[in-house]
Amino acid sequence: MKYISTRSNSPAASVSEAIQKGLADDGGLYVPENFPVIDWSGIKNWNDFPSVAAYALKPFFEGDPLQGELDEICKSAFNFPLPLDLVTDRVAFLELFHGPTAAFKDVGARFLSECLVRIRKNNPRPLTIAVATSGDTGGAVAAAFYNKPGIKVKVLFPKGRVSERQEKQLTCWGGNIEAYSVRGTFDDCQKLVKEAFTQSWITENTDLSSANSINIARLLPQMTYYVYAANLYYRLTDEKPVVIIPSGNVGNSAGAFWAKQIGAPIKEIVLAVNANRPIPDFLETGKWEPRASIQTLANAMDVGNPSNMERIRNLFPDFSELKAAFTSFSVSDEEIKKTIKTTFVQSGMVLCPHTAVGEFVRKRWFPDSFTIVVATAHPAKFETIVEPEIGQKVSVPTVLSDLLNRQSFVKEIDPDLHSFF
Ligand SMILES: *Cc1c(COP(=O)(O)O)cnc(C)c1O
Repeated sequence: MKYISTRSNSPAASVSEAIQKGLADDGGLYVPENFPVIDWSGIKNWNDFPSVAAYALKPFFEGDPLQGELDEICKSAFNFPLPLDLVTDRVAFLELFHGPTAAFKDVGARFLSECLVRIRKNNPRPLTIAVATSGDTGGAVAAAFYNKPGIKVKVLFPKGRVSERQEKQLTCWGGNIEAYSVRGTFDDCQKLVKEAFTQSWITENTDLSSANSINIARLLPQMTYYVYAANLYYRLTDEKPVVIIPSGNVGNSAGAFWAKQIGAPIKEIVLAVNANRPIPDFLETGKWEPRASIQTLANAMDVGNPSNMERIRNLFPDFSELKAAFTSFSVSDEEIKKTIKTTFVQSGMVLCPHTAVGEFVRKRWFPDSFTIVVATAHPAKFETIVEPEIGQKVSVPTVLSDLLNRQSFVKEIDPDLHSFF
């Protein structure tokens, strides 16, 4: 299997090459050159997520040395549960937040880490991963690469602009993880990382890579949990689910589109977004108009220019085809708060603000459908928003409390390359 750029101006790459590069040379995103037809009868136990994931990924690693290691990679990466929680005879939540940093980004970051460690195994030079974060991504990447041999991580975050708990998840590591609190904005952090790749005084001495969410090794595992969940759901209910995905940069939902391509029993894909609405507007007008992001309560989805839309548009180049492939709905902060409150009152379930965006969309537009709502983070990560709505404390899962009790290792810097290279 080869990977080609969405902009068609770069040579095709093997999966290992695409993982190491991150972005194609022409600035496009890597996508598989085709979607294989998979014979699912080879899966013996649909409940065993790591083995389902390895099975689904095999054809995507055809011809690559990593293919033979997929079972090991998936077992190590996915060492936490991904429960599909059927709360009524037709509504299920797919809980993707039981990993070390309590958000779905652990799935992709841990898979990327297992792949990169193997790709770099016999390389004498260490690999340096630079990552700018506005919150969840940096924590997942730091946790996934902590103590991994031959790899160093530099995490940059905007000082005072991430939540206390998020900051703790970025800074509690030490060792091979360096955390930098940058006196500036998220955009300053991102600019620094991009600039680092253009500086020969850095790249001549350092093998540099990035771990942001456009990396193909984060997308592919996000495809596998839709294969797994849709099949489990289909076996339980005899119905194909509508899958409702709280979306920002659209990496999570890109996985759902790819899962459907390879035969996951999904009826319909729904992108639930917050007040950042380039996607629903695009479906309505046919004009793609990225814009500056708006701050909302579901902050991990505050994306005004979702980069993975390039992959969705590549999959459906014709607008009428794209319009038929999915729907998208926008949810306000007021609706997020209301959903957290009423869901708790009615069922005792506590939702994070992102999952609440999905649940609002379900209640409003799909009340009688067979649905899976994707739960992207644990509510305890966003306690300052959730607790006032439910009127009580959210209990903190042990994965999270363990991190919160650790010492912090962080260096405060000005937005200047020389202060962290
Ligand atoms: C990153 C994130 C999202 C958005 O996912 P995308 O892949 O960017 O669409 C939603 N919820 C949470 C909790 C996240 O961390």
